[in-house]
Amino acid sequence: MTKFTSSLTRAVLVCLLATAASSAHAELLPLPEGAQPVEMPAEGYIIQRAGETGYVVIANGYQATFVVTDDGVVLIDAPPALASVLAPAIKSVTDKAVTTVIYTHDHFDHIGATTDFAPTTIIAHEDTAKLLEIFPDPKRPAPTQTFSGETHSVTIGGTEFDLIYPGPNHEAGNIIISVPSDRLVVMADLVMPGWAPWRGWGNGDHIPGILQAHDAILALDFDTYVGGHVYRTGTRADVEDSRAFWVDLWTLTQEAMGTTPFEASPDGNSYNAQDTWFNAVADKAHAQLIEKWGKRLGGVDTGFTHDTIVAAAVSLWTDTPNIPAAALTK
Ligand SMILES: [Zn+2]
Repeated sequence: MTKFTSSLTRAVLVCLLATAASSAHAELLPLPEGAQPVEMPAEGYIIQRAGETGYVVIANGYQATFVVTDDGVVLIDAPPALASVLAPAIKSVTDKAVTTVIYTHDHFDHIGATTDFAPTTIIAHEDTAKLLEIFPDPKRPAPTQTFSGETHSVTIGGTEFDLIYPGPNHEAGNIIISVPSDRLVVMADLVMPGWAPWRGWGNGDHIPGILQAHDAILALDFDTYVGGHVYRTGTRADVEDSRAFWVDLWTLTQEAMGTTPFEASPDGNSYNAQDTWFNAVADKAHAQLIEKWGKRLGGVDTGFTHDTIVAAAVSLWTDTPNIPAAALTK
């Protein structure tokens, strides 16, 4: 009888948990219009103009940019997720070869298909070169040209490319590439047009630097912003939204940290006590963020944003204790 009762209890529990899981899913907000998927053409990718000479290729949740210059094609990132479509997409607009690849940053998911193009020149920030030297990968050849400091302008085949390093952000060495003649700006893994940031800004190296990177983008004049992910390119309004979301997330997290009591663990398990506290902070800030942004950006009400709040709380604890967002702008 006891056995029957306990298995019955278990069955009821499983059933209740299943209901809770499915109702939690059903409670997700519908995707806002700006976050909606875009129908894929038969060729399996979208190719979009950006000014006179710029093009953006979008497929499989990734984006890459290329610019046709007088001396060949300059490709900005070569994501493996686009490996099968990038060459046909370039071929569809020009017979010129890819002579130069510019790395936004060292992450494999953005540059791991570089060797498909055998470029003669690869340009990156010196911090990206250092990371690739520490972790050599034949799929991510070392840059042939690097720059240090905050800005570097290079003219390739008559087209000017301005490379800007706002300091460590999503990743050390992650740069902004501006093509003024096409009013085109590229920066990977920072602004996700229509969407909340990816989980914890993708293990963001320096969370305050992410705000400063937004400001560096907004200091430029552009029509098209390429963020490297999701369904579409962005505009200045998308970058402004992403910045405002960062400020709200930071500020609400900071407030929640100030109002959530910390309870030490009587058994000395300090990790568990801190985990409980970080989660309580994130629960509080997350509810307020969903209220304000849930109908404006995709994914705000998912666990990704909860994790992003925890990442901000850790940064507020370690990088920038008690510093308000306004004091972080350059
Ligand atoms: Zn990345």
